[in-house]
Amino acid sequence: MSETQATEQTLGFQAEVKQLLHLMIHSLYSNPEIFLRELISNASDASDKLRFEALSHAEWLAEDPELRIQISFDSEKNTVTLKDNGIGMSESEAIQNLGTIAKSGTSQFLNAMSGDQKRDSQLIGQFGVGFYSSFVVAKHVDVYSRHAGLKPEQGVHWSSAGEGEFTVGPFNKEDRGTTIVLTLRDEHKSFADRWTLRRIVQKYADHIAIPIQMLSEPIPAQDEDQESSETKTENQAPQFETINKATALWQRSKSEVSEDEYKEFYKHISHDFEEPVKWSHNKVEGKLEYTSLLFLPKKAPFDLYNRDKSHGLKLYVQRVFIMDDAEQFLPLYLRFIRGVIDSADLSLNVSREILQASSQVDSMKNALTKRSIDMLVDLAKDSEAYLKFWKEFGQVLKEGPAEDFNNREKVCGLLRFPSTQSEANLVSFDDYIGRMQEGQEKIFFLTGESLTTLQSSPHLEIFRKKGVEVLLMADRIDEWMMGYLSEYKGKSFQNIAKGDINLGQETDEEKQKKEELEKSSDPLIKRVKEVLGDQVKEVRITTRLVDNPACLVLDEYDMGAQMRQIMKAAGQDMPDPKPIFELNPTHPLIEQLNDLVQEDRFEQLVRILFDQAALLEGTQLKDPAAYVKRIHALLLELSK
Ligand code: ADP
Ligand code: MG
Repeated sequence: MSETQATEQTLGFQAEVKQLLHLMIHSLYSNPEIFLRELISNASDASDKLRFEALSHAEWLAEDPELRIQISFDSEKNTVTLKDNGIGMSESEAIQNLGTIAKSGTSQFLNAMSGDQKRDSQLIGQFGVGFYSSFVVAKHVDVYSRHAGLKPEQGVHWSSAGEGEFTVGPFNKEDRGTTIVLTLRDEHKSFADRWTLRRIVQKYADHIAIPIQMLSEPIPAQDEDQESSETKTENQAPQFETINKATALWQRSKSEVSEDEYKEFYKHISHDFEEPVKWSHNKVEGKLEYTSLLFLPKKAPFDLYNRDKSHGLKLYVQRVFIMDDAEQFLPLYLRFIRGVIDSADLSLNVSREILQASSQVDSMKNALTKRSIDMLVDLAKDSEAYLKFWKEFGQVLKEGPAEDFNNREKVCGLLRFPSTQSEANLVSFDDYIGRMQEGQEKIFFLTGESLTTLQSSPHLEIFRKKGVEVLLMADRIDEWMMGYLSEYKGKSFQNIAKGDINLGQETDEEKQKKEELEKSSDPLIKRVKEVLGDQVKEVRITTRLVDNPACLVLDEYDMGAQMRQIMKAAGQDMPDPKPIFELNPTHPLIEQLNDLVQEDRFEQLVRILFDQAALLEGTQLKDPAAYVKRIHALLLELSK
């Protein structure tokens, strides 16, 4: 083996991997058994990859067509061995895959660590660092591998004690695939045991679609048998027995699959450690034939808001794994749904490009979208459970009305907001409509930067006084979303900070009073306009205010502050629209203003009122120093 040694090289782990390994070994030992789940999951992925590659290299699979994972152990040497006949790795792949972390996974994993061992150890699989969990139980890991299609002498031996470096060199491997030998740490010797291994496989890997096998138990020597048990074992060829169900879980009928199996399967495909909230398993027959299994996760992944991050379903065609993250089967606003789709109609060599242009895929997408929405509608029947979902994924669902015209009404029914009447419990449009006042025709809402600004907005005064509910929308996406909504169940929407408002309750008497006020305020309005000039689009009197003397309103079609911020963030220069300045003629300050003859005082007061109205909108003043100066002058007067 001198040749082998000559080309063996010792390499350092990527810095992040070192950090990760240190963590695994020293902090994540509370749930050590997950190493087996991770290694089986990798072996199963490797088998899926082989089956897929075999579509174009049939001979790779043909030489040894029965895919399986074999687990064995040696309780004297304290080893556990996993052997698969999947795709395998070449030397460079071993260096790449087992020495670095290509994805952005590690640093995000490290950031997500909470210090709670149990929770943190569960994060491993989610971040694509599962292989390294073998070092939680092993003081030494040996990987022997050969990529399908390569010659025996092109095998590789990778070896490491998990302490900063690994060695890698050529290895003569007769069969394709990967064998991993773990030499257990003293405190984890107990894993080299048949029943322990069996129990763990059944707990985490019963749903794995290929057989997981263990050597059958040796037959105990009989009393009258003179042969020593040693000879006896020698005479018997080792018999492997399959210890999992080994059929694709989604192909089994619903009644045969237990809740726990669904949950474990979900964890396997999603790398999520939390259980799913709900799932929907369907076999569709007829014009299109496919099986789908969709899951609703409990928690949002750390990069959910990144619309470009990978998402989508795991696609199989006639049980052959084709690709992860097939995003063509669900709209973007449902990108949190995880699951599997197995089609009988698509071609085995289907590509992403083909999926994009396929009408079959389109009709599957429609059906799967409906299924997902139905799952949510169903969940919404339990308002407590639904609120938990909403906190995690509500913002993403809010992309729905813009993206999915066909399901707009249904998606709208799933939206929730705080309101003036229910700040703690979120309100649906249906709740709102159910409580509308007599004569009220519109659904009123107010958008703004934060709930606190909204709650103290002068726009709400008249609504509070009249007991008319207003939805409070403080999410960045809200104003944009509302731009796509003109009505829900026949009720139109109105942003109460824009345009004229009509609560639908005005009596004739009130109307007449308003007209009179308008007339009598004419001279005042003129004077105010002269002061503010082109800072305002219009000055007018209003009945929407109760406690405040003045407020700013936007024209019906002007872009609100949230939208302008989004546009600015996207690099578009957005001129601020000129506001409409509304005065409350019944407020004592305005009444006195009306009587004020001294022009300079009048001007100072108008400017202060104007700036204060802007402050109440949560916007920044154009000239805060001037405002402060005016207030100081006032204070000086007061303190005389
Ligand atoms: P992930 O499975 O999320 O990619 P892991 O840390 O579990 O992350 O595995 C790292 C990589 O090592 C895999 O992506 C794969 O390329 C390779 N690998 C691990 N185990 C095997 C195996 N049994 N056969 C082939 N490749 C493997
Ligand atoms: Mg893995």
